[in-house]
Amino acid sequence: MSESLFEQASQRLADAIAHVDVSEDAIERLKSPKASLQVSIPVRMDDGTLKVFQGYRVRYNDLRGPTKGGIRFHPNVNMDEVTSLAFWMTFKCAAVNLPFGGAKGGVAVDPKQLSKFELERLSRGYINAIADFMGADVDIPAPDVQTNQTIMGWMVDEYNNIQRRLCPAAITGKPIAMGGSLGRETATGLGAFFAIETLMPLLGMHREQTTVAVQGFGNVGSAIADLLSKAGYRVVAVSDSKGGIYAPQGLDVPSIIQYKNSTRTFQAVYCQDTLCNIVDHQRITNEELLKLDVDFLIPAALENQITESNADDIRAKYIFEIANGPVTPAADAILEKRGIVVVPDILVNAGGVTVSYFEWVQNRSGLYWTLEEVNDRLKHSMIAETLSIWKIADRKQTSMRTAAYIHALTRLSEAIEAKGTRAYFIQ
Ligand code: NAD
Repeated sequence: MSESLFEQASQRLADAIAHVDVSEDAIERLKSPKASLQVSIPVRMDDGTLKVFQGYRVRYNDLRGPTKGGIRFHPNVNMDEVTSLAFWMTFKCAAVNLPFGGAKGGVAVDPKQLSKFELERLSRGYINAIADFMGADVDIPAPDVQTNQTIMGWMVDEYNNIQRRLCPAAITGKPIAMGGSLGRETATGLGAFFAIETLMPLLGMHREQTTVAVQGFGNVGSAIADLLSKAGYRVVAVSDSKGGIYAPQGLDVPSIIQYKNSTRTFQAVYCQDTLCNIVDHQRITNEELLKLDVDFLIPAALENQITESNADDIRAKYIFEIANGPVTPAADAILEKRGIVVVPDILVNAGGVTVSYFEWVQNRSGLYWTLEEVNDRLKHSMIAETLSIWKIADRKQTSMRTAAYIHALTRLSEAIEAKGTRAYFIQ
């Protein structure tokens, strides 16, 4: 029988425990979520019928602070996936030293099948259903796959209505006009960019000679492709759920984004002002994109993309995980044996939650930062944590993933010890 996603996620903890001296209490505390909620959300559809959607929210661990994690709208959302994502958030927040625990939420729905009005009713219905489970000092949702600023705006408005006061710090990733932070929308991509740039000299790589393939062209996939391409890296392939485009000479990513924004079509184009022409390229499948002979492969779509069944065919030298959980533990072992370095999700995509933390701080203090301040703080944090994890991997001779978990586990364990462990009570 194949492992559940949560069993796979837990494997990461087991790998790290072997390298770090933590109490049994800490291990026990981190094995299961603090609280899990499943809700039914009735939504009146535009044609007058009533549909009931299943929603989830898991607060995995709050030892280091209120729990934090995004809300995903996707047909495959289920308790196993949400629990795994909440587990990853716990370790991600600790890995980059944010005073937050981990959580995640989601609704099993294909939002593309809903009208805007239905989507708003569903978003408000979700918050109505989990309102007692969240709050600025309890659990703070944010965007994830197929949710965005507008949806966060509806959600925080609904939460304000329920509480009968303004609670901007209860949800992050809000529109700027409702207390959102400058820089939040681009934070995950920018954070990943800072992590990559920090590692470049350590890996002995140079931008202009580095080829990149990015799987997924949503919020974060398009942002990282854009940043890398503008910095001089050669982005040769990008894809969305329908497939990819490949051009060995390099793609003009800003043109692809401009064309997609104006026509909703994903196409290999070069644009001069508003005039866009299709350029020489090959259409490839997502499976083919993963197997391209490139320096950097950046999965930025969904989990479980590189598994036992395709890990032997991966030809990239380095994988930077922007999606959560795109490489399974079984694939990790194969890639490590083949000398392919995986830089893990809990470091690479931590920029989003870091700027969510900045948004929460700004909402609570009432003092709002400039874009430069936000990005400077993000840069400082990403560089520092990337270097710490690199040094742990070097010192302990582990993978970057295990090093990131060691780094996070050490901080989580300090929080557990601070409350008194078994050793404290029996001596
Ligand atoms: P999104 O919905 O904006 O984009 C997802 C993209 O992946 C879309 O382009 C979609 O077409 C594509 N896609 C879907 N299925 C695919 C498949 N099978 N093959 C290839 N492409 C596919 O979502 P997002 O916010 O960009 O998130 C992407 C990943 O990054 C997720 O794993 C998410 O958890 C993670 N992440 C996002 C944030 C954030 O701030 N948005 C932060 C941390 C991590």
